[in-house]
Amino acid sequence: MAEQTKFLLDESRLPEAWYNIMADLPAPPPPPLHPGTGQPIGPADLAPLFPMSLIMQEVSGERFIAIPEEVRAAYRLWRPTPLYRAHRLEQALDTPARIFYKYEGVSPAGSHKPNTAVPQAYYNKAEGVKRIATETGAGQWGSSIAFAAKLFDLECKVYMVRISYDQKPYRRAMMQTWGASVVASPSEDTQIGRKIRAEQPDSLGSLGIAISEAVEDAATRDDTKYALGSVLNHVLLHQTVIGLEAIDQLDMAGAYPDVVIGCTGGGSNFGGIALPFVREKLAGKNIRIIAVEPAACPTLTRGVYAYDFGDTGGLAPLMPMHTLGHNFMPAGIHSGGLRYHGMSPLVSHLYNLKLIEAQAHTQRACFEAGLQFAQTEGIIPAPEATHAIRATVDEALRCKEEGTARTILFNLSGHGHFDMAAWDSYLSGEMVDYELPDAEIQRALSDIALLPKVPVTA
Ligand SMILES: *Cc1c(COP(=O)(O)O)cnc(C)c1O
Repeated sequence: MAEQTKFLLDESRLPEAWYNIMADLPAPPPPPLHPGTGQPIGPADLAPLFPMSLIMQEVSGERFIAIPEEVRAAYRLWRPTPLYRAHRLEQALDTPARIFYKYEGVSPAGSHKPNTAVPQAYYNKAEGVKRIATETGAGQWGSSIAFAAKLFDLECKVYMVRISYDQKPYRRAMMQTWGASVVASPSEDTQIGRKIRAEQPDSLGSLGIAISEAVEDAATRDDTKYALGSVLNHVLLHQTVIGLEAIDQLDMAGAYPDVVIGCTGGGSNFGGIALPFVREKLAGKNIRIIAVEPAACPTLTRGVYAYDFGDTGGLAPLMPMHTLGHNFMPAGIHSGGLRYHGMSPLVSHLYNLKLIEAQAHTQRACFEAGLQFAQTEGIIPAPEATHAIRATVDEALRCKEEGTARTILFNLSGHGHFDMAAWDSYLSGEMVDYELPDAEIQRALSDIALLPKVPVTA
C-alpha cells in the first residue's frame, strides 16, 4: 500500500476551544509592569488599546476558551490546515527519522497570522469598535489583519514601515485589495510621525516607530483599537489551533512526536504548535520542544531575561522577556518576521523553566535547508520558516548518524511567494551571514540596565 502523504481533518473536527497553557504552568510568568509607574498593570490600563474580551483572555487562567462560532466559520475558509509526512525530504536525507509538517501557508494571507487576526477582529466588532489601527513591517501581519477586518466589516489602518512600503508594493496592494488604508511610516497622520519627519525627512522608518504611530492612533480615537500580531498571551492562545489539530492528525497517522520544532520571531507560531505539546510534556510525555531563531537576532540564546519595553519608544508595558534591549537594531536579514528585539513572555518563561530549548542559525544555512525542502516537498517556504526546516534537517541527520528513527514535527508557518526577492538573493549568491559581535549585544543591553529586574522563578 502506498504510504499516506497528507493527513486531513474534516471541518467538523476544527477545534472548539483554544488551549490556555496558563492553567497548567507550575508557576505563572511575572506580571507586565506599567511603563510609567513600574507597578503591575491591570485590565483598565490596557482598555484604551484592546477590547475587554481580549484583555480578559490575556490574563485568563481557564484551561480551554471556547472559539466563538463566527470565528470558527471564518476559520473554515482554510482550516483545518493539512499535516504532511515529508516522505521525499526523508528520502533525500536518507534518514530513518519520520518528518511531519503542519502547513499554515494555506490561509488567505499565506501564513499562520490570520489565526489570531480573525478572532481579534471578531472581538473588536462584538464590542462596538469601528476601526483597527496596526503596524506592519514586511506586511505579513498587515495583510492578515486587513483580511480579517474586512470579514467583520471594520475599517483598517496600517502603518507600514517606509522601507517595506517602498520595497514591497505587492504586500501593500494585498492589504488594499482587502480594503485597508495603508500609509508609509513615519507618516503625516500622527503627532509622533510628524515629529520624526520634521527631524529626519528621509527616515526609512522602523517597526518601533510604526508601533508608536498605531498606538497613538488607537489611543486618541474613541472608535479605534490597536491590534498586535505576536508576543502577547492572547495571540499565542489563538495560535494553539495549530498544535491542537496536529495532535489529532498525528493520531490519524499513528505517530507521536519525539521532537517539536518552530521558528520564533515574537513567538506566536512556535507557541501555536508547541503549547499543546508542552501540556503533554508536563503530563509526563518525553518530548523535546525547540524554538529556532536567527543568529542575527538571538533573543533566547544570547539575550537576557529582563523587564523591557515592547516598543522602541518606551510607551508599551514593560514585559518580562528574553530581550536584546528595545534599541537593538537587527541586521537586515530577509526573515523580516524574526527581527524583533524581544520574545513572548510565555515562551521566555517556558525557556526559563527548561520546558523548551532554543537554537540560532545563520540565514544562508537556513535557506540551504529551505531549498532542499522546496526541491523535495515542492512548497517554497517563507524565509522565517526555513529556520524550523534547518533545525529539522539537522535533527534528521543526527537520527541517521545514531541509527534512531525519531518522529519530528515542525510548523511550516507560511509560504514564500511574496519573498522571492529573498530567494533571488540566496540563489544569486548575494546573501550574506551576519556574525553578531558580543560588544554589540552588550551595548544594546546597557539600555535596559536601569529597568526593574525580574524575580527568578525557575
Ligand atoms: C510573522 C511570521 C513569523 C514570525 O512571527 P511569530 O510570531 O514568531 O510566529 C514566522 N513565520 C511567518 C511566515 C510569519 O509571517
